[in-house]
Amino acid sequence: MKIMKFGGTSVGKPERMHQVAQLITRDTERKIVVLSALSGTTNTLVQIGEALATGDRSTAASIIDRLEAHYHDFIGALLTQEDSRVKARTLIAEHFEFLRIILKISFNDALSKDILAQGELMSTKMFSVYLSEIGVKHELLPALEFMSIDANDEPHVLDIRARLQLQLSKFPDVDIFVTQGYICRNARGEVDNLKRGGSDYTASLVAAAAAAEMCEIWTDIDGMHNNDPRVVNKTFPIDQLSFDEAAELAYFGAKILHPASIWPAQQFKVPVRLLNTMQPEARGTLIVEEAGSQGVKAIAAKDGIIEVRIKSSRMLLAYGFLRKIFEVFEKYRTPIDMITTSEVAVSLTIDNASNLEAIIRELDPFGELEVTRNQTIIAIVGNELAQTKDVLARLFSALTTVPVRMVSYGGSNHNISILIDGEHKKETLQLLNRGLFGLD
Ligand code: ADP
Ligand code: ASP
Ligand code: MG
Repeated sequence: MKIMKFGGTSVGKPERMHQVAQLITRDTERKIVVLSALSGTTNTLVQIGEALATGDRSTAASIIDRLEAHYHDFIGALLTQEDSRVKARTLIAEHFEFLRIILKISFNDALSKDILAQGELMSTKMFSVYLSEIGVKHELLPALEFMSIDANDEPHVLDIRARLQLQLSKFPDVDIFVTQGYICRNARGEVDNLKRGGSDYTASLVAAAAAAEMCEIWTDIDGMHNNDPRVVNKTFPIDQLSFDEAAELAYFGAKILHPASIWPAQQFKVPVRLLNTMQPEARGTLIVEEAGSQGVKAIAAKDGIIEVRIKSSRMLLAYGFLRKIFEVFEKYRTPIDMITTSEVAVSLTIDNASNLEAIIRELDPFGELEVTRNQTIIAIVGNELAQTKDVLARLFSALTTVPVRMVSYGGSNHNISILIDGEHKKETLQLLNRGLFGLD
């Protein structure tokens, strides 16, 4: 069994969907194909939810009309036979009818998740009609029947496995299954999702649950690049990454992978390959247990970081001080990314500001607080970094013009992180591209 996940751009145009059909029928291996929504759809669904949340029904209604027209045109170009066009348009009409019913009822958070789920439901249904039109035997598996998260929004591979096996066992003679990325059910049984970009996470969870031999993530670029291609000009694809390296890059901002998408594949020992739909023969990036080589592999940047600094002379020679601080973050379920300490101060970073006010209130008695927003973590990721000569020297000599606010080194052998003001992000990524990779 293998998993093939196609992202938004890979299904975003009718001709791309045609190509996806070719890619999944190149071999006869049994496979589960995980699809995202068409590119742009989830953003549009977010806009509909936002308009409804502010009570602006007419804006929501006109966004729905425009989206429907797009799907109408899409189906016209995707399918050639009139009966399959009618079938697809009837299926899609049900989803727009649903969106229009939501316009009439009072809006809440659970409904917003229902709205967000429509994108993947529609892309998979249209793709299924196309596969039938060209005579490809397949089954559509409803992700809402087997993908789930618990009350802490965590998925459990073994639960997913039990339900997925039940679905698969209904079709012993089918080799191609198609399912939705991103969507799932929560502990209350409601429709929910794995957060933006979550189809990668679905693919990895399904790969783990199905004990697949390979999890292929097909996207619009030929693998994980050494630096953010949206920010710097010259980047190149990395041949091989370890799970640990890939997880660090995903967590620290490499958008090609959802932040949580590595652990299921790693825990259940499924190799992951990142591939380019537009360039299917390119090797892409293989992600396995072994790093393959030593030294710096890639740089990623995570924006929207908040630095919290607590200065207190009571910290001097005291024990238990850090525990009390950490307990505040634990209480508000806010993970800490970076931390540095001195005898009289501790600086740490968070990326989730939803409970910041309460956290600050509770930290206040511990000392003098300083909160700085709009910071960026730059993660330098690789293998055996501590054993690699001159990494730090090259790093810091490259950054001559950038003020570095924090440094984290030695916590993991795969990551050196620095904290900078967000306004220096582009400059920093460019300087490091030159200093660490010799690229301008
Ligand atoms: P999909 O819709 O297929 O899930 P995404 O847009 O989520 O695709 O992810 C692919 C994009 O990730 C690329 O187009 C690229 O701009 C961006 N990206 C950011 N950092 C990296 C990186 N280090 N390597 C490759 N792509 C990256
Ligand atoms: N469609 C969802 C999103 O845009 C999930 C995904 O594409 O991975 O976030
Ligand atoms: Mg993505």
